Amino acid sequence: MGLVEYDIKKEIRRRRTFAIISHPDAGKTTLTEKLLLYGGAIRLAGSVKSRKAQRYAVSDWMEIEKQRGISVTSSVMQFEYGGYCINILDTPGHQDFSEDTYRTLMAADSAVMIIDHAKGVEEQTKKLFKVCRMRGIPIFTFINKLDREGRDPFELMEEIETVLGIQSYPMNWPVRLGGSFLGIYDRKMMHMELFSGGNHGQSIVPSMKKSVEDPIFRDLLGEEAHSKLIEDINLLDMAGDEFDMNKVLKGEMTPIFFGSAMTNFGVENFLQEFLKMSTPPLPRKADIGEIDPENDFFSGFIFKIQANMNPTHRDRIAFMRICSGKFTKGMSVNHVQAGKQIRLTQPQQFLAQDREIVEEAYAGDIIGLFDPGIFKIGDTLCEKNPQFKFEGIPIFAPEHFARVYIKNSLKRKQFIKGIEQLSEEGAIQVFHEKDSIAQDMIVGVVGILQLEVLEYRLKNEYGTEINIEHLPYKYIRWVASENFNPEKVRLTLDTKVLWDDRNNPVLVFQNEWSIRTVEERNKELILTDISSISS
Ligand code: GDP
Repeated sequence: MGLVEYDIKKEIRRRRTFAIISHPDAGKTTLTEKLLLYGGAIRLAGSVKSRKAQRYAVSDWMEIEKQRGISVTSSVMQFEYGGYCINILDTPGHQDFSEDTYRTLMAADSAVMIIDHAKGVEEQTKKLFKVCRMRGIPIFTFINKLDREGRDPFELMEEIETVLGIQSYPMNWPVRLGGSFLGIYDRKMMHMELFSGGNHGQSIVPSMKKSVEDPIFRDLLGEEAHSKLIEDINLLDMAGDEFDMNKVLKGEMTPIFFGSAMTNFGVENFLQEFLKMSTPPLPRKADIGEIDPENDFFSGFIFKIQANMNPTHRDRIAFMRICSGKFTKGMSVNHVQAGKQIRLTQPQQFLAQDREIVEEAYAGDIIGLFDPGIFKIGDTLCEKNPQFKFEGIPIFAPEHFARVYIKNSLKRKQFIKGIEQLSEEGAIQVFHEKDSIAQDMIVGVVGILQLEVLEYRLKNEYGTEINIEHLPYKYIRWVASENFNPEKVRLTLDTKVLWDDRNNPVLVFQNEWSIRTVEERNKELILTDISSISS
């Protein structure tokens, strides 16, 4: 192995790429900020927060995001810590954008799930967890807000196990006295880490590490609290599951960490242990077999497209996960789906949301490519012949359908362009009736909020106002059988045949009874509820 290949491999092996998932308000922004603080990417914590307040600078188009206080789009941040190069993928907390989360998770190698110590497993945690499960990636849990009163840690562990159906293994255990959070007991090192003060979490907190038996802790906690702590630790060792790294890697066991993102207590311990346990970039499936990240050729796929992040440029950014090899600015690659060679100029990397031009990047990294309208979600870019395609990204079945009309038919061109671009971004799915040449089209979305986003963005970015007529359909099935004849199929009265944007026939239904009836009436008809983005 030459020096260059050795360096490339070394770079790839030190990469860690993960997504943070949580119910809104559990502390995702705060923890992200603190990880950046420990990584030295920001000096004083608070910068991400203040950026959150002025996020319009990044996504001006998303007034809705500000109005509703939810994060609609995901962004990417890179920083260094202890020799590792870390990529954090942020995910939207709102359930109506779970599709976006799924695509983001396609680019991650593990997930960090934040749980509010007082609230436990919340609605959105469950949904996002399910999506992680589908990917089969390792899931790490950070139980946050220990500085406040909350629930019993044993009870939280049990809730994670029963509600989410995953085994749990606490890596550390909270040390509390009265209402205050003093530190953590590290089960592997068998020592206690005691934190002191800190200026409200604005900078790295000092801590002291000593054996739990050290008299200093007995004095500090008092006899009763100290004995209870020792008892808890013994109980965990005796009654708890054994740690099993294989299960962690398969997403069957989640390591749990306790801490407070706000005061920084436990943040560094979490970061260090997480980095040790999580994996370097994982291989990805392609039509020629698995692509190993350490291959000597560059490859990657587009998992997300975001429009107009900078309102003065009206540009689109295609987010690419690099899957193998090394990327260098200006390199020529095959755009496999489009069947042509392109040069990757102006690639961008994201450091705490400030975009900067990237000269080189490695497998595991996420970079943003300037997109003049040539990329689609699921596209493969690769350096090598023979060319190959990465596995497609599954499409979620829409659960809401609406017919959209333009108010002013002179704006038809902009309307079509807007709909096309939003559909390429994966914000909406477009359907049509075969013979329809009307001024309208049918749009399907997974979350109802996406329709509001559609209306807002068409108006603000494309200057077209629309009327939305909600349709009663709730279920979609793609037709998987050959020789489908819409004239011959025996439907129920409330069922409709449509075509998706790749001209695949679909059936839309108002209730499950209709699905069953249509299946019974047409024995040769094969229906599926998933499709995938790949061409
Ligand atoms: P997100 O919606 O998940 O991004 O949550 P944020 O990071 O914005 O946090 C939501 C609220 O919880 C904010 O007011 C934070 O200051 C607060 N918060 C975050 N972490 C902690 C913590 O460890 N302790 C306490 N007491 N509050 C926290």
